[in-house]
Amino acid sequence: MRLVRLIANLGYGSRKDVAWMFRDGRITDPDGEVLYADDKVEHAQIRIDGEPLDPPTGLVLMMHKPLGVTCSRKDQGRVVYDLLPPRYRQRTPALSTVGRLDRETSGLLLFTDDGALLHRIISPRAQIGKMYEATLAQDLRGDEQALFASGTLMLESETTPLLPATLEVLASRQARLLITEGRYHQVRRMFAATGNHVEALQRTAIGRLQLDGLPSGAWRQLDANDVTQLF
Ligand code: URA
Repeated sequence: MRLVRLIANLGYGSRKDVAWMFRDGRITDPDGEVLYADDKVEHAQIRIDGEPLDPPTGLVLMMHKPLGVTCSRKDQGRVVYDLLPPRYRQRTPALSTVGRLDRETSGLLLFTDDGALLHRIISPRAQIGKMYEATLAQDLRGDEQALFASGTLMLESETTPLLPATLEVLASRQARLLITEGRYHQVRRMFAATGNHVEALQRTAIGRLQLDGLPSGAWRQLDANDVTQLF
């Protein structure tokens, strides 16, 4: 693929913008030697303003999603894509969130342009654990652990019971919940089924990948080793 098209497809700008980047000498090799649009160079040897290019496919990001932003591409309010550099909105193939978090849920959110990886993570068959910490409006009743673990809990308007989930009580109104499915508003609806209400919810881990102190609103690229932590 010609360099202009390759770089434009990564979202760094239109083909015209990228042609100007070449003319302005912003595209170089790792030693800072200016590259030209018709040079034959490997992807790994290209720098823009001194920074390595994003991978052509297989980009995986993690974000600490803050409260008050939605996982849609477009919304009247702020969306998670607003927290990423603009080039990530313009990539081909497009970057998508791996599942969603509610507007009022914070925590670990993944993005990828790799459709196969996305399906591997969200497929109900994969049963990847998602860990949440919930703050509740009322004290736990005491029977939630057994009920969630039973594999018999049926949420309103669903036709199959939930898979067993693991509840750890942290305080009278604070719990950690590990689920392996991703049904709509699942955690809130599980506590609603016990007559409680979730006041605050954060996803802290997917598989063995944890938020690990990433500040709210921040994001980072995952490497191959990080990705293995998901499975
Ligand atoms: N369960 C919920 O209720 N909300 C989320 O955002 C994620 C899981």
